[in-house]
Amino acid sequence: MTHMLYPTTNLTATEQLVITHGEGVYVYDNQGRQYLEGMSGLWCTALGYGNEEVVETAARQMRTLSYSHLFGGKTHPAAMELADKLSAMVPMADARVFLGNSGSDANDTQVKLLRYYFNAIGKPEKYKIISRERAYHGVTVAAASLTGLAPNHTHFSLPFDALGVLRTGAPHFYRDGLPGETEEQFANRRADELEALILAEGPETIAAFIAEPISGAGGVIVPPAGYFEKVQALLRKYDILMWDDEVICGFGRTGADFGATSLGIQPQLMSLAKALSSAYMPVSAALITGDMYDVMVEPSAQVGIFGHGYTYGGHPVACAVASKVLEIYQREQLFERARVMGLYMQQKLQAFADHPLVGEVRGMGMIAALELVANKQTRQAFNGNAVGAYCQLRCQEHGLIVRAMGGNSVALCPPLVISEAQVDELVEKLGRALDETLAHVIR
Ligand code: PLP
Repeated sequence: MTHMLYPTTNLTATEQLVITHGEGVYVYDNQGRQYLEGMSGLWCTALGYGNEEVVETAARQMRTLSYSHLFGGKTHPAAMELADKLSAMVPMADARVFLGNSGSDANDTQVKLLRYYFNAIGKPEKYKIISRERAYHGVTVAAASLTGLAPNHTHFSLPFDALGVLRTGAPHFYRDGLPGETEEQFANRRADELEALILAEGPETIAAFIAEPISGAGGVIVPPAGYFEKVQALLRKYDILMWDDEVICGFGRTGADFGATSLGIQPQLMSLAKALSSAYMPVSAALITGDMYDVMVEPSAQVGIFGHGYTYGGHPVACAVASKVLEIYQREQLFERARVMGLYMQQKLQAFADHPLVGEVRGMGMIAALELVANKQTRQAFNGNAVGAYCQLRCQEHGLIVRAMGGNSVALCPPLVISEAQVDELVEKLGRALDETLAHVIR
């Protein structure tokens, strides 16, 4: 028993699992037990653990310049290099980069950049942001307000109205499709609902639509074909910016460089974190297009200081590590590897579609989820989250880390460096845990 307060518990939780070290795709606990990290920590350790090249880079940067900041235009080579690399990499023209420490703070930065931008172009009334149910965008006050999951709202009296947060439906066909509805009809219905919301609020009041290409924490929701095409047609029609939260999907996870590439998204804003440094250091980036930047900085648009920035934003060690990680992704062609290994993993996981407990197997590239249901035919969900939690525990007993999410979906998001044999190991352990969970549920 230590003096820790643990996140996402009722704060009375005591130590559950003490992880002491990691190597490749495995982590080890204080009893010396090995676990295949099937979740890359919290969807982030894409390169796996213990990469010596990254470790060396961090040590070298600490010796050279352990800290400097970016306030007022003071800068350092590691931040400049990272910003330029990101700008060249993302599917946005001449992107400008604001560096931070976490996905949540990148999203808070974007909320402020949006306000600043619309003030600069003389449209301060255009401030509302449409977010989706079951979206996860972080836990700082603004990011938590954008998040569409009740547990992240309860107790906190979040300022939804002050921030102008609007909510629209999630593109989850398996859960929300109506009887007899096709995926295309479902996507059309979601687009119609979005248009109705835009018209009810007034397009002139709406700044942006925020979406994860594939919603992660909300249950690994892969949208139906055509969904983002329809959404983006509406955004263009009503002059609303597309804000792409790539905190999970970025850097190979979906089997391409970004989730935007896999799903045909053309963003004006992008938020990046997690695999940006493969979680070797906390670092994030909020990106806007060169067009947005250009109009903001015109003399006639000047609205004064953008009074925002973090002490550790653009930390030299974090930036040097992130640049090295991006170099390794490219050199080792890890996004292409993720595409190929992702096909293998998804195909192996499809074998569970016949399992009596599994309602849906879904995913893309190296991210997936199995939704556990009480009745396969009717798709009836279990009450509460105990079944998913039990399955997660059984996996852990077998030396596999997965993540049970609300609604009893079990998520998988292994490091991109996982081998075929290790995917087989993951699937075999998961299969055993599923059978044990079924036996537990029947009993
Ligand atoms: N956005 C998405 C899509 C996320 O999945 C997360 C975290 O899981 C965040 C934002 C918040 O990132 P962080 O936990 O680094 O603040």
